Amino acid sequence: MGKIIVRNLKKSYGSNEVLKGIDMQVQEGEVVCVIGPSGSGKSTFLRCMNMLEEITAGEVIVDDYNLSDKSVDINKVRENIGMVFQHFNLFPHMTVLKNIMFAPTELGKQSKAEARETALKLLERVGLSDKADALPGQLSGGQKQRVAIARALAMNPDIMLFDEPTSALDPEMVGEVLGVMNDLAREGMTMMIVTHEMGFAREVSDRVVFMDGGYIVEEGTPQEVFGNPQNERTISFLEKVL
Ligand code: ADP
Ligand code: MG
Repeated sequence: MGKIIVRNLKKSYGSNEVLKGIDMQVQEGEVVCVIGPSGSGKSTFLRCMNMLEEITAGEVIVDDYNLSDKSVDINKVRENIGMVFQHFNLFPHMTVLKNIMFAPTELGKQSKAEARETALKLLERVGLSDKADALPGQLSGGQKQRVAIARALAMNPDIMLFDEPTSALDPEMVGEVLGVMNDLAREGMTMMIVTHEMGFAREVSDRVVFMDGGYIVEEGTPQEVFGNPQNERTISFLEKVL
């Protein structure tokens, strides 16, 4: 049984159909990288996984919960799904520690003391123990993104979604963020990652999904998709980015 099951997912904004019928499954512990040209619907697809977008048709089932089912408590499902964006979205006026403690304490999941302990452990895990009392504005982009990952992990999710987590970073900071994601993957986290980092996708993913024009055009192992792409749109995209 898939951890995430997507069946004939469609999403329109007004008359603009952005996702045109997507079928996909992600197994527990699987790492799936989503690649494809700008405007192909990658972000929209990811946002449908935790109902940041209302879907137009089809089904998204996460941990056996059908997200279109009106009786499902979407907030409960969301607590299990961490999301990391291109632009960090940290609370600028809160220290790093407070940023990470915020969701678990606000939602009554943990006491302040427990949340603090969790946050300190997570900061150690992302290599930022010395930044607990810093404000986001005092951090580099790579450090901010590592804090954003720690913050997403604070709710102890078992699925993590990443939308171009390194696209806003200076090149020298990309590695430190990919390193943290690589660790997570190795620890068995179920992950969906939209990325332009083809080297990383090749190395870390169990499966690569190529999207174009609102469809999944091709998918396979990194060896298959990068080494022997079948669809001409995949071939032409990879020629441009590799
Ligand atoms: P990608 O992440 O692959 O670049 P997106 O999912 O961001 O693609 O966008 C796909 C299409 O959906 C684009 O044509 C974009 O203009 C449109 N789109 C995305 N978000 C919205 C929105 N909130 N309202 C209207 N159109 C949107
Ligand atoms: Mg996008």
